[in-house]
Amino acid sequence: MSARIEPPARALAAPVSPATGPGTAEVRSAAKVRIPAAKRDKKPARRADAQLKIQLAGRPATRRNGARNQPEGRFWRILCLCEIANFATLRRHLGRPRADALVRDVAERITDIIPDLRVSAAGRALVEIAFERDKPESAAADIDRLRKAFLRPINLEGERYQFQMQFGVAAAPSSESDDVRLAEAAESALEQARLDGRVVMLDLSRADLAFDKLTLMRELPRAIANGEMFLQYQPKVHVRRQEIASAEALIRWQHPVRGLILPGDFISVAEQAGEIGSLTLWTLRKVIADQRALAADGHDLPLFINISGILLADSAFVAEACEIITAAEGAKIGFEITETAVIRDPDSAIRHLQVFADIGVTLAIDDYGAGLSSLAYLKQLPASELKIDKMFVMQLTSSNRDPLIVRSTIDLAHALEMEVTAEGVETPSALALLSVMGCDMVQGFLISRPLGFDAFHKFLCDEADELTGGSVQSSFIRPESFWKRA
Ligand code: C2E
Ligand code: CA
Ligand code: CA
Repeated sequence: MSARIEPPARALAAPVSPATGPGTAEVRSAAKVRIPAAKRDKKPARRADAQLKIQLAGRPATRRNGARNQPEGRFWRILCLCEIANFATLRRHLGRPRADALVRDVAERITDIIPDLRVSAAGRALVEIAFERDKPESAAADIDRLRKAFLRPINLEGERYQFQMQFGVAAAPSSESDDVRLAEAAESALEQARLDGRVVMLDLSRADLAFDKLTLMRELPRAIANGEMFLQYQPKVHVRRQEIASAEALIRWQHPVRGLILPGDFISVAEQAGEIGSLTLWTLRKVIADQRALAADGHDLPLFINISGILLADSAFVAEACEIITAAEGAKIGFEITETAVIRDPDSAIRHLQVFADIGVTLAIDDYGAGLSSLAYLKQLPASELKIDKMFVMQLTSSNRDPLIVRSTIDLAHALEMEVTAEGVETPSALALLSVMGCDMVQGFLISRPLGFDAFHKFLCDEADELTGGSVQSSFIRPESFWKRA
């Protein structure tokens, strides 16, 4: 089977399957593997193993930047980390001294199969392979040959042993000279390979590598500490009162290398990495500071924060968030929560939401209609606002069904004494229809895209001027050119 290049989150090539069929491999015990002097040696586990200074017999020293055997013109640099996944089992059978030399056997088999690969030990169970190819597909085909070769047992002192190998591969065009990035991508690929049980190859030229989740997961704590996160605010406008009622804080990650990363690409990563609590507490502190700064300038409006569902079941988070909010006396803070968060663990979610409501946090139900909307839970929530998911609002004027859903949702929310916000309002016709349906608040690109703090502050000042100037009806609808400037 030939390997294919795919985006990082999905895996590449074939599953690593147990041994099939017979086969033998000769062991040349004189083989030596060497760790390149320039090896980047970040991980303690790999550093500890760096004593393995065995050099492959007769093979010249490898160069990390792949200068040897380098093809002319444009080519791809490949770095593959190849791990003996069943090292512990092999060590139990072979004893420690022999097991410590297993990387030699692995390196030997690799270079027997594809002689131009530069192989070096990167740990007792880890081998690093560097080479160049004309395109990533050629590299993937080579790695697949290696994978298949390890399906045959290896002869060790007269006994046949099955090695289970994991391959994590990174490929970068020759124009990409960042060795650290290549090595990090190979490490990420290996981590993913361990999880998926198959070869994973990351292509550094692909834009979607920016969202390689494992790398982001590792980088998140540093990013929060280094101030790479920032907030944008998107106003919600009260339709009848024609005023900015509140605003929603939306988090962004200004990554030093990858540029701007939107929350859709890292919130789930933060949840998996156990970082969502600290990220949300950071957001809460920042929003409180921003709310106070705006209030001091005459714009005392509530600012809403998105709260991930898993945090509603986290008593430690709830306690710390409450402490921060109560300490910030008078700060107007709201939380947006999704119904699915509540459905997951209703008892603790409802209890915690009540705690937040009791200390004055306004609660809004977010993305209504996108999940399994359940009236039973809705009635029990101390929420005062219901946000209709933008998926219904954006097709309001082009769909037959969506206006009915929106209309009935507005009536339902009003019956439960909640105000309704329609998010994703992009056109004047949607705004007009929502207004007729009795929708209380609107939010969307028609009114404003999310704005950085300074731009949002200016937006509030401009609106205040417009209102005192009298042009109330049209004040929230801007020409497209305005938003391009914002
Ligand atoms: P959400 O809470 O539903 O936020 C609204 C999203 O819709 C935002 O995307 C916003 O930029 C976008 N949006 C607003 N108006 C319009 C419109 O008229 N048309 C269209 N097409 N889109 C519009 P964003 O900022 O990328 O946020 C995506 C999601 O990430 C949010 O969805 C929210 O669930 C999550 N999120 C954002 N910030 C945070 C945070 O601080 N914590 C947590 N847990 N989640 C967050
Ligand atoms: Ca939201
Ligand atoms: Ca939403």
